[in-house]
Amino acid sequence: MSDYATRSFWLEDEYSPGASLDGDRSVDVAVIGGGFTGLWTAYFLKRAEPALRITLLEREVVGYGASGRNGGFAMTLLNRGLHDMVRAFGDDATRAAHRAAAASVDGIGAFTRAHRVDCHYEKNGLLCVASDASQIPRIEAEYRQAERLGLEGFRFLDRAAVQASVHSPTYECGVREESCAILNPARLVRGQHRVAAELGVEICESTPVEDVRAEGRRVTIRTPQGIVRADQAVLATNAYSVHFPPIQRYVAPIYSYIVLTEPLTPARWEAIGWAGRKASRTVAPTSTTTGRPATVACSSAARTRRTSTARASAHNTIAARMSSRA
Ligand SMILES: Cc1cc2nc3c(=O)[nH]c(=O)nc-3n(C[C@H](O)[C@H](O)[C@H](O)COP(=O)(O)OP(=O)(O)OC[C@H]3O[C@@H](n4cnc5c(N)ncnc54)[C@H](O)[C@@H]3O)c2cc1C
Repeated sequence: MSDYATRSFWLEDEYSPGASLDGDRSVDVAVIGGGFTGLWTAYFLKRAEPALRITLLEREVVGYGASGRNGGFAMTLLNRGLHDMVRAFGDDATRAAHRAAAASVDGIGAFTRAHRVDCHYEKNGLLCVASDASQIPRIEAEYRQAERLGLEGFRFLDRAAVQASVHSPTYECGVREESCAILNPARLVRGQHRVAAELGVEICESTPVEDVRAEGRRVTIRTPQGIVRADQAVLATNAYSVHFPPIQRYVAPIYSYIVLTEPLTPARWEAIGWAGRKASRTVAPTSTTTGRPATVACSSAARTRRTSTARASAHNTIAARMSSRA
């Protein structure tokens, strides 16, 4: 059995992995990878076309990759901030992308309510702060762009206002954005698993795909447990895609971490003043290692379970580990 529970705080919750593939089959769509991408794909396809035969193949358990190891922020940030998005793609695309991302945050909430997925989804907004003077121009530029683009739900907080929100002496100013939720990502991905299976998607865990190739008009997918032939295949393997030769040169795996603290005492919460389970992130002008803008994100999600101090988790799929296994 996979060591999935040791990979992330979120994955430690009790879980009974589902069945693996049991022999050959022919389907309409095969989805490879059981993270958010694979499971949303299977879910929306099945909802749109209930007659589709869909098989999802997951090497370990659903949520084994970044989907079960992330910070749990459902937010509008698309890798870069609004200012950089406008420079790269222009006003209309930035506005449309932002609104689509905000709608997705609400869509996740609607999904969890409709299907009773108890993943602690709470839409409490995001506080993006400058934690030293050098970050102030970046925060101000973000807010100006949001205003200029006519985006809803942004508020600028000066020093007094931001420090009233969280009592950090390092916070210089901030932007509060309504369109952000926090959630437990492993519970979400496991909920997606349940819902997709209820719709009739076949989900096979502990089923590593070893080879994918087009044969005639179909795709043949080989695993140790059997062969799946499909009209269409969706590769939803994120950074692990480096192991699929046809696309490996388009993929550059990166990694990042989440850090957890011990549960805080009520007195400590009081002193920090970080109420309302708001998500928060700081924007550093430049990372010392990559030369690119760096972000530190955290959320005031109350921890009710044991966790070791400042334990680092995650890794966006970690090419090194994959390579050593392959
Ligand atoms: C530390 C960290 C913090 C993050 N924080 C946030 C955040 O707060 N908010 C946010 O929106 N995003 C965050 N992200 C990014 C987010 O987690 C990812 O974008 C998202 O989970 C990607 O989902 P995915 O389904 O594409 O990939 P993954 O979740 O990586 O899923 C890929 C799946 O493919 C499976 N697989 C791989 N190879 C095979 C194979 N050969 N056969 C079968 N299955 C295979 C893997 O086991 C895995 O389950 C964070 C990421 C990290 C690493």
